[in-house]
Amino acid sequence: MENWIASFDEIIKGKTTDVYFLNAKKCLEADNLDKTVVYAEVTTDSLPKNWTHFLFLGLAEVIAMFQKTKLNVNIYSVDEGRILPPKDINGVRIPVLSIEGPYGDFAIYETPMLGYLCFQTGVGTSALYVRLAAREKIILSFGIRRMHPALAPVIDRACYIAGFDGVSCVLSAEKLGIKPTGTIPHAFIIIEQGIENAMRSFDKNIDPEVKRIALSDTFSDERFEVMKALDAVGDHLYGVRLDTPSSRRGDLKEIIKEVKWELKQRGREDVKIFLSGGFDEKMVEEYHDVADGFGVGTSVANSPTVNFAFDIVEMNGQSISKRGKYSGRKQVGYCQACDVYLCSLESQGKIICPKCGSKMEKVVKQYMMNGELIRDLGDVGSIRRYVKEQMEKLELPKK
Ligand SMILES: [Zn+2]
Repeated sequence: MENWIASFDEIIKGKTTDVYFLNAKKCLEADNLDKTVVYAEVTTDSLPKNWTHFLFLGLAEVIAMFQKTKLNVNIYSVDEGRILPPKDINGVRIPVLSIEGPYGDFAIYETPMLGYLCFQTGVGTSALYVRLAAREKIILSFGIRRMHPALAPVIDRACYIAGFDGVSCVLSAEKLGIKPTGTIPHAFIIIEQGIENAMRSFDKNIDPEVKRIALSDTFSDERFEVMKALDAVGDHLYGVRLDTPSSRRGDLKEIIKEVKWELKQRGREDVKIFLSGGFDEKMVEEYHDVADGFGVGTSVANSPTVNFAFDIVEMNGQSISKRGKYSGRKQVGYCQACDVYLCSLESQGKIICPKCGSKMEKVVKQYMMNGELIRDLGDVGSIRRYVKEQMEKLELPKK
């Protein structure tokens, strides 16, 4: 039996680091430089796809890791769930998270820290744009089967925070404190030899609180399978899911319109239409007018990552940085009225909005002081509400 998943203990021991950090640490110790106090920033230069903003996620796990290491570090960060652009109004990369402390102590944690942030921010941002495209329609996370099972709760946490209405994974739902949501698998319909038997069995054996949603594309045409499901469970039918394979898709909108027409003939305009099978934000936008909800999987679970970098900008209290990066400890101001970000040196004190001249809100806050958590991270529910509040100002990227 083999297990290729790193345990939390192995991460804390630094075993998932890149070996060059171990070598660097060894040399710095030999040269008596490992306790050099540095201030380093996490930034990103650009975003995947045509994204203009990202949903910052992963902070809770970064903090959990540093709490466990018991290192004497200070951590400053924007709140988890903040939606922001990679650069400020002047093109300066916005530092989303900064660490201050003896470099030799925390160097090995750069790798896992970036891993937590890059992956979760990527999945969360993909989910955010799907949410935006879907507007008021229902969105369910169906993508855990495309990734290593150990990642399922991480993917679903990001989707739920981004505003998805439900998740199919049992463990994810348990952790999120919600009920898992799903329909029925094709295999069940095949073994029951048709949608009628399958829906009758589901209706008889499954808790009445669970919505009866028929998967309507297994053996025959969607329209006829929907009618069979309706015959089987009648009033109990809540919705139908069309997972039409791409080889049979033709004009999916026409198929949906026909299904709706036939449902109307039977007085069941209320039956919800759910779509799944390869949907991303573009397809959700395209089918928004004909569907009531979408099961979204691969496009979100297999999202490109947001490639954050980690760079020293101050050493022993003096500004310094590698070429290509702006030196000095920065503060990040935000003006809600103008929707403008501005980075300036922290030594400059208050930040004034370059557009309206009012005092800007400082969005980077101290989360850890000398290794102790000093600010509430917020639970999943509050981060989700925070995301919803910010979404009003966000627009879908132009095609
Ligand atoms: Zn302003």
